[in-house]
Amino acid sequence: MELVFATHNLNKIDELRAMIPESYTLLSLTDIGYDKPIAETASTLEGNALIKAQTVSKNSGIPSFADDTGLFVDVLDGAPGVHSARYAGENADARSNIRNLLNAMRDHPDRKAHFRTVIAFAVNSEVRYFEGRIDGNIASQPRGKGGFGYDPVFIPEGYDLSFAEIPAATKNKISHRALAFSTFHAYLSKLNLS
Ligand code: IMP
Repeated sequence: MELVFATHNLNKIDELRAMIPESYTLLSLTDIGYDKPIAETASTLEGNALIKAQTVSKNSGIPSFADDTGLFVDVLDGAPGVHSARYAGENADARSNIRNLLNAMRDHPDRKAHFRTVIAFAVNSEVRYFEGRIDGNIASQPRGKGGFGYDPVFIPEGYDLSFAEIPAATKNKISHRALAFSTFHAYLSKLNLS
């Protein structure tokens, strides 16, 4: 059975390809020749994942799924949340997003935050959601060179290192996205058996 992962991000595709049951063929947007931008206009992760999954599923006629992730900081009432990619403005890079975050949290002793990923899976007119979450704390300054996005300032619970200091293989086992993918994978494996 073919499935489209509604993303151009090859790292995400590779990550999931390694996990998915053999009876599924995973296609990217590039594989199906879909290159139109999809506006993520919803105010929730579920909403944005749904827009991407449904747009691609309707367009391709192939069951499709999409993910959406945000970093939610307690003292900022959940910001940057659904706006994580553009916290410092449209086309903001990771450095300016981090700078914005550290400024907004300056002098706040409560550093609690979590990453959350939602996957929406659209088959015909049906939709299912899968999610993963990891709790942690925001560091007072960036640490480490690995990872991407907010990794240098996110210290997962139970670790003294930031996501940018932890080996990628470890991050990819414990992360919000890994947990969401693994729940989705378990669902696909069961479908596969029936
Ligand atoms: P996306 O929905 O996967 O594109 O993620 C939205 C934004 O959340 C990204 O632009 C990053 O800023 C941030 N983000 C998502 N996943 C991670 C992660 O694993 N580490 C650090 N930042 C992340």
